[in-house]
Amino acid sequence: MYPNLQRHAIKLNNLRSLSTTVGAPKSIRIVEVGPRDGLQNEMTIVPTDVKIDFINRLSRTGLQTIEVTSFVSPKWVPQMADNAEVFKGIEKRAGVDYPVLTPNLKGFEAALEVRVKEVAVFGAASESFSQKNVNCSVAESVKRFQSVTDAARKANIKVRGYVSTIIGCPYEGKIKPSAVAKVTELLLNQGCYEISLGDTIGVGTPGTMREMLKEVLKVAPVEKFAVHCHDTYGQALPNILTSLDFGINVVDSSVSGLGGCPYARGASGNAATEDVVYMLDGLGVNTGINLEELVNVGKYICEKINRQSESKVNRAMRRSKSVC
Ligand SMILES: [Zn+2]
Repeated sequence: MYPNLQRHAIKLNNLRSLSTTVGAPKSIRIVEVGPRDGLQNEMTIVPTDVKIDFINRLSRTGLQTIEVTSFVSPKWVPQMADNAEVFKGIEKRAGVDYPVLTPNLKGFEAALEVRVKEVAVFGAASESFSQKNVNCSVAESVKRFQSVTDAARKANIKVRGYVSTIIGCPYEGKIKPSAVAKVTELLLNQGCYEISLGDTIGVGTPGTMREMLKEVLKVAPVEKFAVHCHDTYGQALPNILTSLDFGINVVDSSVSGLGGCPYARGASGNAATEDVVYMLDGLGVNTGINLEELVNVGKYICEKINRQSESKVNRAMRRSKSVC
């Protein structure tokens, strides 16, 4: 080995041992949100058979959780109008959970008909965001989910809660960590088993994430939380890394960074799953996901919707292959 390379290898080894001392968990569960959060924010409406094929391919990468679709009125979200067909059409692989979004009781009942086993509801940390989106206060919006969470309890169905705008809001700017803690508590009291903390517009930094996490961890233990970081300002990976230091071990991401930000045209969407897995592999944190297979699925869906992958890892791995 050349002396320079040797020095480089020693440096990398040092970095790896450093990473294991800052408290990164041994394994992480990734919640793939590409088929729902991703495709819902894409301009192209993807044909049902492509969605089914896409989810089946994701199921074979080692992912444990794939959010399939949203049971919402097609008037609001035309991209998800085929929700029941997609859910019925996909292979349900053993060991993989297939949650769906159900913003109201009507949606929940439709999801129940196709035998969904886990659903998700959402609340905002920002009052203005809540008013603009669902026309009521944060507390009222959470109250409206009561019928969903009650029905879910009766049917023995798990409910996940999303909290959006945890750092910033397109209408009122910076959000107080105490507001995030408040809506988190409301959702947990309603019976959500996990809260996914969403930086919806991707304005967070490790500094603001840390401030927010310190506050929300006062209302519930770390096992109750997941993070959902958007990459608008290129901060998704450092923000995820910051939350791992707090002991969070569930991360939402979307293959090839599918989706966009409806509040910042042309901005990036969710953290790309390929990039998250690459980072975690490097930290020695187990995800159970085969990165190469995941890169192929990213390539597949990007070709189908005619867009470039937002994952740097995807682009780099494909480029290095075509050179070889
Ligand atoms: Zn998202």
